[in-house]
Amino acid sequence: MGQVHSRLTISPTSTKLAWMMDLRMLTTMHAFFKFCNNQTCVDDASGNTNMCNVGTGAIEFKAKVKSCTEQVSTLVINGKKEKIKGYNVVLDDTILFPEGGGQINGIDVLRITRRGAEAVNFVTSEIPAGGEVDLKVDWKRRFDHMQQHTGQHLITAIAEKMYGCPTTSWNLGEKTTSIELDIQNLTSDQIAALETEVNKCIYQRIPVTPIVYQDKEDPELKQFRCRGLPDDHEGPVRVLNIEGIDATLCCGTHLSNLAHLQMIKLLWVEKSKKKDRVNLVYVAGNRILKYLGQCVAVEKSLTSVLKGPLDDHVELADKAVKASKTAQKSVQNLLRDLAVLEAQKFKTDRKPGDILVLHRKEGDNEFMNIIVREINDLTVICFLTVGDDKGQGLFLLSGPADFLQAMGEKVAETLEGRGSASRGPYQGKANKMSQRSKAEKLIREFLLNQCGDS
Ligand SMILES: [Zn+2]
Repeated sequence: MGQVHSRLTISPTSTKLAWMMDLRMLTTMHAFFKFCNNQTCVDDASGNTNMCNVGTGAIEFKAKVKSCTEQVSTLVINGKKEKIKGYNVVLDDTILFPEGGGQINGIDVLRITRRGAEAVNFVTSEIPAGGEVDLKVDWKRRFDHMQQHTGQHLITAIAEKMYGCPTTSWNLGEKTTSIELDIQNLTSDQIAALETEVNKCIYQRIPVTPIVYQDKEDPELKQFRCRGLPDDHEGPVRVLNIEGIDATLCCGTHLSNLAHLQMIKLLWVEKSKKKDRVNLVYVAGNRILKYLGQCVAVEKSLTSVLKGPLDDHVELADKAVKASKTAQKSVQNLLRDLAVLEAQKFKTDRKPGDILVLHRKEGDNEFMNIIVREINDLTVICFLTVGDDKGQGLFLLSGPADFLQAMGEKVAETLEGRGSASRGPYQGKANKMSQRSKAEKLIREFLLNQCGDS
């Protein structure tokens, strides 16, 4: 190796250096390495990625609060954007990094952003300026990110070697991770072969080492897989070296040995939004245990629901779905017949002034409309409802236009629903089907008054 580069040493006192270098690396490398997106910790320098340091206190750190100011931030919580009142806390030094999670004095840091060379921590409780605080990295989350990201480096390198397809981006999701490969498709055999190769590397316990080059013009840098740095880049350049496999510019969080990945499971490929590329979805390390655990829980539930073992699940589920479709069709046909019979019965038994009030739980819009069509008399008043007796449903009101105009909205209001008259009857959704006797009473009262008037 050359004269001007040096390997980063693991020392808790070097965190300041780590953070500063992170900032430089981030500003320059993000544009070129999308797969570093939001995974920007300089882990090795802060002593947090080396497995030897787990549990030795290296994931804890003391810092001073430089400032604490009130702040309202918009955060995404459970997939929804929410405005949260809190504080922006700036420290003199830190081991917490964006997306990595952590605590200051036991208070959860909800977001970490960069402002110049400072890290701004957003928290919901005030942490007064001037005092000393204890920082704690969310190690479980950090380690998970390191496993997924180091796994990405490995899959990227082997996929390029085997199939000549470069990785164009990567996405770290909550449950699975994916890399976008510049290739039209990967067959299941190709995925299986790739999976075998990456797991062979893990089995070989290959060291993963960051190397820092102080000079970006270092001729040695040219040998590494990188797409160049911006012209205005200043300061050291960091290369991640997976011995004998790959060396690439990266500022992310990494494990110190492939053995810490434990295993990589390639799950499937799906079409990327970009033309002629695929997303290869995978899980690495502890995520495999979690994923498998969930699969087993689902398997157990399905075994009980479908009354058969795992091997028969697809066949049994297919049968159940087909049977349900056949049953649905039968019900639909019977409802159609019933609608015709109901209409005929009403017409046969009808006495002057009779109105048709009918509720059928299993019915649908078609059921109600068939009845009206069969009666085929606009002077006849029908109040039809379908759906849950005590919950939601649909209603239909038919009759002369002036009657619909007078009563349509009132009936909808009584049923706490909404409706409109389109192509004849007034129909809509009802939220409180239990009110239908009240609605019927209103209709009868209206008709009585009308008789009285005329
Ligand atoms: Zn990396």
